[in-house]
Amino acid sequence: MSRLRIVAPRVYVASSLLYLTNSVVIEGSSHNGLVIDPAVTVKDLISLGIDLRKAELRTEAGFSTHAHWDHVLWNPALGNAPRYATDSAIQSLQAHRDAMFAEMVRVAPGHPPDLFGRGRLTPLPPEMHCVPWSGPLVQLMRHSAHAPGHAALFVQESGVLICGDMLSDVEIPLLDLTASDPLKDYRDGLHLLSTVDPELRIFIPGHGHVGYGNKEFQYRIGADLKYLDSLEEGLTCTDSRLSVPWLQAEHNTQWSHFHGHNEPK
Ligand SMILES: [Zn+2]
Repeated sequence: MSRLRIVAPRVYVASSLLYLTNSVVIEGSSHNGLVIDPAVTVKDLISLGIDLRKAELRTEAGFSTHAHWDHVLWNPALGNAPRYATDSAIQSLQAHRDAMFAEMVRVAPGHPPDLFGRGRLTPLPPEMHCVPWSGPLVQLMRHSAHAPGHAALFVQESGVLICGDMLSDVEIPLLDLTASDPLKDYRDGLHLLSTVDPELRIFIPGHGHVGYGNKEFQYRIGADLKYLDSLEEGLTCTDSRLSVPWLQAEHNTQWSHFHGHNEPK
């Protein structure tokens, strides 16, 4: 059975059990597809390639929303198409490639090393505002929340926002703690995404469940802003997403970063 499920006209999602990771495929008008963040195990990527063939879709291009290991993967089963990311994301990947590659090997081993990141992604400079491919217009929304050169994608014709690692219902906001003002970057990113609200129908986070409609969109933005406020102000954080141990650990790291000590229990 195909893992590709259609969530909007010409927009498909394939979800992995690992981190509830979502890969997105946008269909063009001539059996062509834009493959976004294919993830996350080798088996997942090969299955995605098989599902694309069954759907008679040829990969025209790939896109990575940001430079974290689980968003820059590729497999020959997906074809030999050009792959894109923002220029800032690729610079970040080049700077941290060895650490990311090691993390990939630890969590999801077996991916072809020569297809991982460096030299395989074509940078899209700041003056490019759309993904270069022949299908529906896909707008680039660049910001610095979560990772340098992070880009959400907005498909205007269907009102679909592909969020990258933002607006998850299962993960708290994970900040780029190497930035000079990670909280401002994150709030700016959320504000940028919120600008599509009048046209939004569906939003797809990199991890978690697909969101439908403006009410859920605003709810998730609000939940993330509330988390950021409590983190900054040193308030006890009651976010239900912290019930997962690795996210509690990430929260502890973020708390210590801003307050210089562990969160009081
Ligand atoms: Zn990420």
